[in-house]
Amino acid sequence: MTKRFFDWLWGRSDQPPKSDLDFDFAADPRTFVNVPKWTRVGRSGQRDLCCPHCGFSTIVHDFGWVARICAGCSVSVDKYHWLIEVQPVHKD
Ligand SMILES: [Zn+2]
Repeated sequence: MTKRFFDWLWGRSDQPPKSDLDFDFAADPRTFVNVPKWTRVGRSGQRDLCCPHCGFSTIVHDFGWVARICAGCSVSVDKYHWLIEVQPVHKD
């Protein structure tokens, strides 16, 4: 914990500090990234995407689309704005 965090917690600072405690749907950049242009569904034939607005999770079977309506918040979300889980890194 930093002094800045406590300053924020006790109302001594207007801006919350960046920390792991920021959880308004907030895609953790270590876990979710915007869909990269070269994305393929891969061997499993499907990928999980997360809506950047409401966090609703949806499964896609291909990336041959430009935008999709989120079933959670009904917003049309551009393909490259959807969030995709970062592939686990295999060490082999
Ligand atoms: Zn949504």
